[in-house]
Amino acid sequence: MPYRRYAWVEIDSGAIAHNVAALKARTPAGTRFMAVVKADGYGHGAAQTARAALGAGADRLGVATVEECVSLREAGVSARLHILSEPPVESIPLLLEHDVVPTVTSRAFATALSREAARLDRETSYHLKIDTGMNRIGVRAEDAADMAIRLDGLPGVVMEGAFTHFATADVLADWDFDRQMERFGAALDEMKTEGVRPRIVHAANSAATVLHPEAHFDLVRCGIAIYGLHPSAATRGSIDLRPAMSVKSRVSFVKRVGLGDGVSYGLTWHAGAPTTIATLPLGYADGVHRLLSNRMDVLIGGRRCRQVGNVCMDQLMVEVPAGLEVSPGDEAVLVGEQGGERIVMNELAEAAGTINYEMACGFALRMERIHL
Ligand SMILES: *Cc1c(COP(=O)(O)O)cnc(C)c1O
Repeated sequence: MPYRRYAWVEIDSGAIAHNVAALKARTPAGTRFMAVVKADGYGHGAAQTARAALGAGADRLGVATVEECVSLREAGVSARLHILSEPPVESIPLLLEHDVVPTVTSRAFATALSREAARLDRETSYHLKIDTGMNRIGVRAEDAADMAIRLDGLPGVVMEGAFTHFATADVLADWDFDRQMERFGAALDEMKTEGVRPRIVHAANSAATVLHPEAHFDLVRCGIAIYGLHPSAATRGSIDLRPAMSVKSRVSFVKRVGLGDGVSYGLTWHAGAPTTIATLPLGYADGVHRLLSNRMDVLIGGRRCRQVGNVCMDQLMVEVPAGLEVSPGDEAVLVGEQGGERIVMNELAEAAGTINYEMACGFALRMERIHL
């Protein structure tokens, strides 16, 4: 039996390699490329994504947590590895053990990192995060030079890079984006005047990599686009990305229902005429958000079937359109292609009132992943 259950996720590694190459082609030769593989590679598998991306020219990886660093190292990934926010001070020994480049946003962390590195007679790099307007994390742009000078003399640590992150990179011709660019430029100029020159300056996420060449600097940090998903409508049409994730299942049960019969918890849907209902063995615990109830389609036999009734934890039901013969064991596609029909991640994300980023992450909750 190919699968332990009749619901699974397929990942096309070739698509990830294609997307990395397409993004790299947008940046000048010599620009470094960080593949962002946090949250288990946006649900696509961190280690497998890392391998595909590194094979296609990525030269370093970005993650969100220390745990993610450790599991990549345990999976045998030896590439340069960044953690994109300042981790707990208590994790510093682990960071050094696994050769992780942390983000620094506080003097306390930098000092503790320096102390531990000096104790081990090591030298370790960090990147300074500068807040230019997103107001999430980072040293305020106007304080960046001052902070850089204070950290400059610490033994055992080197500021290899300085970076910022955009709040609105996915919009074209945006005043807030321009303001962030100006503040970042001013902070870097001030640092230069004070004699602090980070070797690697970076700012661009996927959207900025595609839409804002002026934000490429020395390195780009691409997440969503390496998975073949667009960060916003603005990038669609301007770069050829191939979605890497498909979500598939097999029909587990088929039945006829009569006029007026209800389906699923709460009986929120009733048959307007005698019809056929097929059950699929996946639900909200697999990432098919309950908000999608009565609002999504599934492909069976190359045809769109409307999902009906509330999505359950482990199962969901669809109405089989007239003229389509469906039997248990037939393949159903929730995301991907079947018989020339296609459902993209965005269709589900929009129906659930969220973004493709969150939708993709959700499909990693419980389903087995097959890497093609
Ligand atoms: C997640 C993240 C990225 C990647 O963003 P995408 O929009 O997925 O390309 C880049 N930089 C930082 C700091 C991040 O947290």
